[in-house]
Amino acid sequence: MNIIYESTRNSNDRVTASQAILRGLAPDGGLYVPEKIPSFDKTLDEFAKMDYRECAYEVMKLFLTDFTEEELKHCINSAYDEKFDTPEIAPLVKADDSYFLELYHGRTLAFKDMALSILPHLLTTSAKKNNITDEICILTATSGDTGKAALAGFADVPGTRIIVFYPKHGVSKVQERQMVTQKGDNTCVIGIEGNFDDAQSGVKKMFGDKELNAKLKENGIVFSSANSINIGRLVPQIVYYVFSYSRLVAKNAIKAGDKINVVVPTGNFGNILAAYYAKRAGLPIDKLICASNDNKVLFDFFKSGVYDRNRDFILTTSPSMDILISSNLERLIYELTGRNAEKNAALMESLKQTGKYEISDEMKKDLEDFRGGFATVEEVSAQIKKLYENDKYVLDTHTAVASKVCDEYKKETGDNKPVVIASTASPYKFMGSVLTAIDKKYEGMDDFALADELEKLSGMKIPQAIIDLKTAEVRHKIVCDKTEMQKTVLSVLGI
Ligand SMILES: *Cc1c(COP(=O)(O)O)cnc(C)c1O
Repeated sequence: MNIIYESTRNSNDRVTASQAILRGLAPDGGLYVPEKIPSFDKTLDEFAKMDYRECAYEVMKLFLTDFTEEELKHCINSAYDEKFDTPEIAPLVKADDSYFLELYHGRTLAFKDMALSILPHLLTTSAKKNNITDEICILTATSGDTGKAALAGFADVPGTRIIVFYPKHGVSKVQERQMVTQKGDNTCVIGIEGNFDDAQSGVKKMFGDKELNAKLKENGIVFSSANSINIGRLVPQIVYYVFSYSRLVAKNAIKAGDKINVVVPTGNFGNILAAYYAKRAGLPIDKLICASNDNKVLFDFFKSGVYDRNRDFILTTSPSMDILISSNLERLIYELTGRNAEKNAALMESLKQTGKYEISDEMKKDLEDFRGGFATVEEVSAQIKKLYENDKYVLDTHTAVASKVCDEYKKETGDNKPVVIASTASPYKFMGSVLTAIDKKYEGMDDFALADELEKLSGMKIPQAIIDLKTAEVRHKIVCDKTEMQKTVLSVLGI
């Protein structure tokens, strides 16, 4: 079956999967969604016998139907290899009566690697299929994690370059060091004198600047984006839910067909949306539990049907979930409207104009699969301590949000189905918060000392990515004013 993608704001805008990957966002500002969600053509028992790569092929082929078998397998094999520190790629670990799906074994220690390892290959293959011979230049603004994962993914991928802007004084020391030491001849990292919003609007402006784009075209270069709304990031995320279920079957923890619940620590709503697609494609998931931190816009939405971003932005210990506009939620809203682009566009316009929208009672009925929950900074610390004391298992702050929400859900409902918790970052990435949650004596210690302590506590070896940071050479030193981003890009590209 051939799957075409349509924009959530204009169902006449229809493109192939490879075109949707190349475009990222639809020209009308909508997101591309598959015109229908395909069903698995392998049984759950068959999935249980597959390794990660085989599973990835069987899932992704259903969504990216204009890729040949050879093309898709090439992308998968180039992504899921020794870059991950375990051949399982995404191990499933039981602790405290839940199953933690560890999605942080890639190079930058967070789940973004699961998609950003393969996106460069999907993108260059898509370019080839559509006879685009220009070099693809990825432009990204980052508040920390996405930039590094994108840099690592695109480094030395032929036919691509990547330029990342970050707020010079607005990221953590570890995050900055991770970025400015990035290897790869095609990578460039630029600090700007300005905040994340300045970086983000500077990049958006360049994407929309016709004159600039024409100038690049003359020089054989096109801009593209590695943003999380690209279906080239969403589809690879469906895979690991299927994989986690297949491990449960393989371990005899469940029988094929038994229902499970999943809990996902959520920010932009991409990860949990992938779980929703997995369910629609036939994975026996019962509840999709959306876990938020103190920025609980989504919790309130699932409770009331009102999405309202008009509130204070709270800085928490789980910064990758500090988000008030969850872009990927638009794809779910589109489904709830009965795939009505006009209705969806009106709600999104309301969000833009007033910062809020409300869905109808009829739409609310279709939200039954979802549950919202949230955990405060204090609850997250207590949860990290609890898991460590009960099971010697160390969670990062984001995963701890999900783990706490999971406990609350079980307590409130008595629902004791097996639970898979998406574990989105290595505890090594947020060592300060994690260790002080376990014991106050770690407060104020420097990062490399903390790493040694965490290794002793967790028995989990210090990841190479952390060891390398200590000695890595600083390769990127460009700093520019927020008003000079375009000039700097042209100079980096030698135009
Ligand atoms: C990005 C991120 C999240 C949020 O994922 P979304 O797909 O944006 O909902 C959660 N945890 C970590 C560690 C992340 O980096």
